[in-house]
Amino acid sequence: MTSQPAPARLQTLGLIGGMSWESSLVYYQKLNQGVRQRLGGLASAPVLLHSLEFAQIAQLQHDGDWPALERILVASAQGLQAAGAQALMIATNTMHKLYEPVAAAVDLPVLHIAEATGRALVAAGCKRPLLLATAFTMEQDFYKGYLQRRFDLDVRVPAPGDRAEVHRIIYDELCQGRALASSKARYQAIVAKDAAADAIIFGCTEVDLLVAPADFDRPCFDSTALHVEAGLNAIVGPTAHALP
Ligand code: GLU
Repeated sequence: MTSQPAPARLQTLGLIGGMSWESSLVYYQKLNQGVRQRLGGLASAPVLLHSLEFAQIAQLQHDGDWPALERILVASAQGLQAAGAQALMIATNTMHKLYEPVAAAVDLPVLHIAEATGRALVAAGCKRPLLLATAFTMEQDFYKGYLQRRFDLDVRVPAPGDRAEVHRIIYDELCQGRALASSKARYQAIVAKDAAADAIIFGCTEVDLLVAPADFDRPCFDSTALHVEAGLNAIVGPTAHALP
């Protein structure tokens, strides 16, 4: 008699990604590194990645066509569910503007990026984080409001001209694979202007491609790394430890 294959011991995570692929690459790598770290040996992350075409996404964002973006993300989420995903992540902060319709369209947990970030800020005792993100994320309510209402955080953003610069660097450089020393210096100068902020949120999944916590004088909270940590808990379970 042939033996049955052992049941899968890990959950499959679906990623709505490609926004941009530069950061999806980091998600994919960190998820796999995290599973290896927790389980050792040949263990790796069961991941379904739907990598969307970012020029189309960015055009629709800047046209303000959120209904079209919602249709794309909902279809992606449903496709990942049909393909076998057991939990989902939207691998960008900005597209969490559409978190509610995406979560409502599937029968799976959808791990919110601001939940992971907010928990880490609260655990560290931070109260007034400065948010570095796209203009959509810095200026609209869907992300700041989540952190304010759910975690009682007083989220700060740079001044208007600086917000435009943070946004430009994300789309014109980081999402196109360019990390310039001059842009790193701009981010540092923008942060230095806000003496009242007690933490910094890397609130765009490409920010960690430009700067690192060591570049700042305050604690930094990297949304990509924190979201990955939530994804690892869904894949492996929060209590699993590396095998001896
Ligand atoms: N990845 C970025 C974010 O975390 C921006 C790109 C996008 O618009 O999705 O917000």
